[in-house]
Amino acid sequence: MASLDFNSLRERMVQEQLEARNIFDPRVLTAMRDIPRHYFVPDELRHLAYRDGPLPIGLEQTISQPFIVAYMTQCLQLSGHEMVLEIGTGSGYQTAILCQLANHVVSIERHGALAERAAEKLDALGINNVEIHEGDGSQGVPDMAPFDAILVSAAVPAIPNTLMAQLAENGRMVLPVGDSYNQYLERVSRTGNIWQIEQLIPVMFVLMIGRYGFTPRTTGSTQRL
Ligand code: SAH
Repeated sequence: MASLDFNSLRERMVQEQLEARNIFDPRVLTAMRDIPRHYFVPDELRHLAYRDGPLPIGLEQTISQPFIVAYMTQCLQLSGHEMVLEIGTGSGYQTAILCQLANHVVSIERHGALAERAAEKLDALGINNVEIHEGDGSQGVPDMAPFDAILVSAAVPAIPNTLMAQLAENGRMVLPVGDSYNQYLERVSRTGNIWQIEQLIPVMFVLMIGRYGFTPRTTGSTQRL
């Protein structure tokens, strides 16, 4: 098979999936042009890396659709100075985008194997304003709060109070709220001691498993990475 021109595929993704759908923040568009999404998907799926959808990354998890990554990032209105908390590192792709747009990123992933692989990929790309922790992100990281921005990429049944409390004054959080069948992306904007909640668009994320999320399914199946 002829080798794919990932740069042109990525440019087309930005024009057709993002610019055409109201992703307008120039810093977000630049990050989406710069970060090689194909590097974060499994080798055998690389040829699909710039398609308009999510892809499996192992352990029943997915790398989010490019549009959703760009949309959630744009909702955070990052200017470059922020301390960001990401919950659900997954492949590390969204993490890489956040690292380019903020000052420092703390990212929590429940699956140790995914956390390790994402850390290796980010390191290999020379991205070092990030720390990846293994653990239950539904509780946030109270010791490192407050965060100027929080991005959650697994669905919670309701917005955890503990995450609201870890938002800096003037901070913003974007997160999917709902269950396996019905989810909306919501944005919480804090101004002083007022937290404003907006419902944005319907989405379909994997569920957050943890204290303020859902309980794990017990299927008994073995999961391979
Ligand atoms: N933005 C990521 C999406 C990963 S999918 C990407 O584009 O690759 C969501 C991730 O959330 C999965 O990797 C899943 O393991 C993780 N997750 C689920 N519950 C979690 C929890 N309580 N704490 C941290 N991560 C969690």
